[in-house]
Amino acid sequence: MTEIYGWSGVVLRVDMTKGTIRKERLDPEVARKFIGGRGLNSKVLFDEIDSKIDPLSSSNVLCFAVGPLTSTWIPQTSRMMVSTLSPYTGILGDGNAGGRFPGYLKHAGYDQIIVTGRSESPKYLWIDNDVVKLKDASHLWGKNVNEAVMLLEKKNGRDIATACIGKGGENLVRWATAIFDRVSSATRGAGAVMGSKNLKAIAVRGTKPVKVRDKAKMYEIGQADRKWFSKDKWIHDIVGELGSPCVMKDSPHGAHHFDKAIGIGDAPFGAEDIKARLEVSRKACYNCVIHCKDWYEVVSGLHTGVRGGGLEVTVVGLGLQTGIQTPEGFAVWKKLLDENGICVQAGIDALALAYFCYQHGIITKKDTDGLKLDWADQEGKFKLTEMIARREGFGNTLAEGFYNFGKLYPEAMKYVYGQKGMMGVGPVASPDNFSMTFVLGSATSTRGGDNLRTGPSLLHILPSHKRWAEKFVKQGIIPDVFTPIAPIVQLGQRVSVLADSISRCKTGLWDYSIAVPLMGKYGHPYRGTAEALSAATGLQYSSDDLIEAADRITSLERAFNVRQGITSTSTHKFCC
Ligand code: SF4
Repeated sequence: MTEIYGWSGVVLRVDMTKGTIRKERLDPEVARKFIGGRGLNSKVLFDEIDSKIDPLSSSNVLCFAVGPLTSTWIPQTSRMMVSTLSPYTGILGDGNAGGRFPGYLKHAGYDQIIVTGRSESPKYLWIDNDVVKLKDASHLWGKNVNEAVMLLEKKNGRDIATACIGKGGENLVRWATAIFDRVSSATRGAGAVMGSKNLKAIAVRGTKPVKVRDKAKMYEIGQADRKWFSKDKWIHDIVGELGSPCVMKDSPHGAHHFDKAIGIGDAPFGAEDIKARLEVSRKACYNCVIHCKDWYEVVSGLHTGVRGGGLEVTVVGLGLQTGIQTPEGFAVWKKLLDENGICVQAGIDALALAYFCYQHGIITKKDTDGLKLDWADQEGKFKLTEMIARREGFGNTLAEGFYNFGKLYPEAMKYVYGQKGMMGVGPVASPDNFSMTFVLGSATSTRGGDNLRTGPSLLHILPSHKRWAEKFVKQGIIPDVFTPIAPIVQLGQRVSVLADSISRCKTGLWDYSIAVPLMGKYGHPYRGTAEALSAATGLQYSSDDLIEAADRITSLERAFNVRQGITSTSTHKFCC
């Protein structure tokens, strides 16, 4: 058998119904064409999912995949894609998670896990390098994420990484998520699919080296990449110190389900406030030099002592839609979401729409089982979040997702903004900074309305990112945003799909320079990635090969969605 480099060369296929685990050889041709992560997963979903199935039935397929650069010298690559037919949107559902888990899975010797079927009783998947077993998880069922992870660590050691569901996933909340290493999550309902399969968790220990073809070249590229990041003032001194909330004050925000617009500079707090009031330490995903994430502790008020991590701008910026206004409020809410294993973004959408409808008289106490939905009542939002995870009362209605909730009330549907079952987010809320690249990118995203499928527009609208935009326009890497918008959206989509497939982080910064190794150094969108992939795998990738691979993956995802009933109308109109 030809030796494989970069990839581990092994796919784990787990049949929950039969309780069997098979180690399959990764098809080298599939690997070359679909690269890894999102590409590998989308290929499996397209090949193996029948369009007529219920996403919460045993027929759904759930995939976890890392990329050929994961756990190599290239930093920011402990990322993985979790993909399935989404019970939340009914189309392709994928989410990108970080932490230690992706790096450890690669060190254990696997590129992808494919989970099918449904177990009769709760199980967890235990991976200890070559040893892979399904184990009883009855004692973990009903536990929140932190409790379950502590029990897993007690039994298996603290040198493991975990992907675990909480009550949200167990109760099949359509937007429940899997929580990686306690605070990182993958969106679009993968947690509900794990729950439907009776898969409480995956725990992995990985200690094997990753083989690359050209060690010297990989080392050279990796070192140059690290040096470039660590000497950049913006990335090292600002993002490394404050995380993604560093853009809080220089971004526009929507609030109260777009009832209010918050202009640049007017956010109720900034990253410095979070740091001063809550931060305990900074942390990074495995093999990352940036440390964009925080560990926090609430030190005053009713919730003193609450500890958690990952107060990213998605939580505290987009979260302003829910009416939560303070760093402490978001710290408590994020902890509740993580403990229950439910998704931040979908949680924002559900709460914001429900409170908006209540405030505008579209729903009343009769619809909310007696709950008064007052924007100013922070504690009420915490309580409702727990009710959602348990599917209690009005929480059960919102557990179906904001779109299904909106469908119950014709008047509410007028305020269900989004594309293909996901809320449109970000600058769309601010006419002052309206960015058509962002809108077009979100509308054509293959997983529904999204702020993470076309990062480039943010380069042009955020003051902090303007220098990148100017530099890259001058270098000819990106076209000017004010010329026709299609080319920049297309470039953004290609960069995003490549980042998700090589498993390079893009969520911390929404920035070309993060998503694609050495873009600034090479003065070209794809050349750095092509060199890194060639050195890792021993195959010769050109920039054109990468463009072709990106378009191949996107086309396959679109074909999958067309099979699920998506039409040109649902793709382009700004509602579901
Ligand atoms: S930049 Fe942040 S999210 Fe990205 S890999 Fe590093 S620590 Fe993780």
